[in-house]
Amino acid sequence: MPCKYGTDEDPCQFEVPEDRLVVMEDGSKVCVFHLPAGNALGNPVSRMRKAQWTQAEIDEFNQHLIEIIQAYVAEEAILNLKGVTFPGDIYFGRFIESKTVLRRASFEKTFFAGKANFDGTHFYTSRFDSAVFRGEASFRKTIFEQSCEFSRAVFDGFADFSNARFSGNSVFTDSRFSRGALWEDATFSGAFIFHCINREFSIVADFSGCRFDSSVCFRNRRLLSGTSFADTVFFGLPDFFDCAIHADVDFSTAKFKYSGAEARLAYEELRRKMEDRRDRVQQGVFHAMEKRCERRTLHWLSFEKLFSWLYDATSAYGISTVRPLVWLGALTLFSAGVYTKLFHAADPELFTTVWINDWASSLAVVVSFSIEQMLQPFTIWSGKYQPIDSIIHSALFEYPLVLRLMAAIQSLFSFGLIAAFLISVRWRFRRA
Ligand SMILES: [Zn+2]
Repeated sequence: MPCKYGTDEDPCQFEVPEDRLVVMEDGSKVCVFHLPAGNALGNPVSRMRKAQWTQAEIDEFNQHLIEIIQAYVAEEAILNLKGVTFPGDIYFGRFIESKTVLRRASFEKTFFAGKANFDGTHFYTSRFDSAVFRGEASFRKTIFEQSCEFSRAVFDGFADFSNARFSGNSVFTDSRFSRGALWEDATFSGAFIFHCINREFSIVADFSGCRFDSSVCFRNRRLLSGTSFADTVFFGLPDFFDCAIHADVDFSTAKFKYSGAEARLAYEELRRKMEDRRDRVQQGVFHAMEKRCERRTLHWLSFEKLFSWLYDATSAYGISTVRPLVWLGALTLFSAGVYTKLFHAADPELFTTVWINDWASSLAVVVSFSIEQMLQPFTIWSGKYQPIDSIIHSALFEYPLVLRLMAAIQSLFSFGLIAAFLISVRWRFRRA
């Protein structure tokens, strides 16, 4: 009778001779690698179970495994530790030489009874599906070169993935975290799939400083108080549908960069969540993202698209109070430049003499004229208009229509920018 862990199609990978298998309470036999730690509740039911092992026995076991792992690595074979029970703490860095890339590693259903430390390990593809981490799991600075699978993995201790690099898709579907998880400054080049399929699993997770280059999926998760997205950057679609987010989970310093048309509903969902908690600022941020996604669907030659773009550029859809003021300043100066050209063309001799003699007052005249169009719009069209300087008089005489039209355009745009400024101030400080 071979090791009971295997099946006919997928027999135990360790090929332990039958006379060295451990006989279980029910008469079945199991190899020392697949020998469980205790019963389903974690309670040892027999002397021979790993939970009852002494430190010397654990060390001997680990030494044995080190030899096996090194042989796998030397042969560049699939590192197959499927179903193995590690009785004590393991520091994977001790098992392999540094800078070794593990081409394919399988830790499916592997049981780590103590701490599991994979800091700095470089995996090509790796599988940890249904692995159980009873103690702390540490993957600091671990490189997951290709896809990695942590579906249904159970983390009973704290999980640390800080500074890890996930270059392919990372799948954590239905993974369970009992003690919190740290992903600080981790980078994800592929999709981060963190959803639950049928039920919610709650988690306290720190994603501060993370960079998600592709989509993220948090569907059906429950993000508890203490979860952080400080300075997290989302370059892909952020899917938080049906995700319960505690009121103190802060997105204020997170950056959302993706504005593909298909992300509109994802932002609408986030906006609604912010509405529920009356977070006006974040609500505005997600509303702006929604509008940017919507803009992608509009015809490039439509007025709607142009206005949408203008509103975004000048006030980020009403959430920036600084942008309209900056644009207003720029418009006033730009217009002053155009008026200077017109004044010069109308009377080059007068302009040159006046300008060279007293450039400071001439500059003041041009800028004052420009500001006048902002503060007293359209008065230049009135018959009673009195220019503040003779050079304006000359320009009005030479180019009556051009100068008036230019002034009118400036007035209109200024009016729009002042309105955008007032709307953003009102929106920001309005009582809920
Ligand atoms: Zn076995």
